Amino acid sequence: MYNLSDIGVLKKLLFEAGFSFKKSLGQNFLVNPSVCPDMAEASGCRGIGAIEIGPGVGVLTTELCRRAEKVVAVEIDERLRPILNKTLGEFQNCEVVYGDVMKLDLSSLIKEKFGDMPVVICANLPYYITSPIVMTLLEGRLPVESVTVMVQKEAADRLAAEVGSRMAGAVTVAVSYYAKPSFVRKVSRGSFMPAPKVDSAVIKLDILKAPPVQVADEGFFFRFVRAGFSQRRKTLCNAVSSFMGVPKDAVLSALKTAELPENTRTECLTMEELAAVSTALYELTRKGGTAE
Ligand code: SAM
Repeated sequence: MYNLSDIGVLKKLLFEAGFSFKKSLGQNFLVNPSVCPDMAEASGCRGIGAIEIGPGVGVLTTELCRRAEKVVAVEIDERLRPILNKTLGEFQNCEVVYGDVMKLDLSSLIKEKFGDMPVVICANLPYYITSPIVMTLLEGRLPVESVTVMVQKEAADRLAAEVGSRMAGAVTVAVSYYAKPSFVRKVSRGSFMPAPKVDSAVIKLDILKAPPVQVADEGFFFRFVRAGFSQRRKTLCNAVSSFMGVPKDAVLSALKTAELPENTRTECLTMEELAAVSTALYELTRKGGTAE
């Protein structure tokens, strides 16, 4: 059994495989021994299935294998194959799939590998594609219970912010539409090799069975939210009007229908208010033939 949080062990493994870190793949490997057990525990993987994205040398994978019934890890970098064969060789409940998580059909993969078993996702995400991965996982409506991920601290603050707070952005609204976010723990930059320039945090997204609000059209709702947050210094009316090409009168009328003032800013609105304005605007623009 390899102690992968021991820098000496990690360096020896990497050296023997002639491995050099690729910054372009977000390869910062965890060496703080408390983080992976915490993440695996928080993911709720005990006795069920777990998917990991980017196992690296297998430090988190090992903790998942100790708890989960079955683990499937997706790794883009084939150079890690000889290392993972060594470090995960002892686990009968583990399989590594080599490929780009952004190009895989994860729904089919989950069905093929786990059948009817409940599944969670747990990963220390490569920083260069944090938000696209999180959004792919959520928008894909994958049959998973939760997504526990380590991301840069700033990204965590944004992803897990409360809709209607100053930290909220379009991605916050998207996350809250699909999941209930919670903060698990902070992870300092010194917990990685090589150390990144910023601290990280682990968040858990518990997937909702149904969205918290009803909207007339999901595609329109997300375009409206992106538009509203596109220019933070502008009012919702000005931002939405210029980004979506909708007449200001229509946006003002939608705000009025939702009983909100004309100078409303997007970041002040709750999910319910965003849904109400978006639905009113959708109805108006459909009638008027604009923006769609
Ligand atoms: N889980 C390991 C750990 O905690 O030490 C490694 C985490 S490291 C931050 C990110 C990992 O994701 C690397 O192993 C990298 O090669 C892998 N990766 C990067 N882009 C990927 C992609 N598109 N699909 C799958 N894996 C990817």
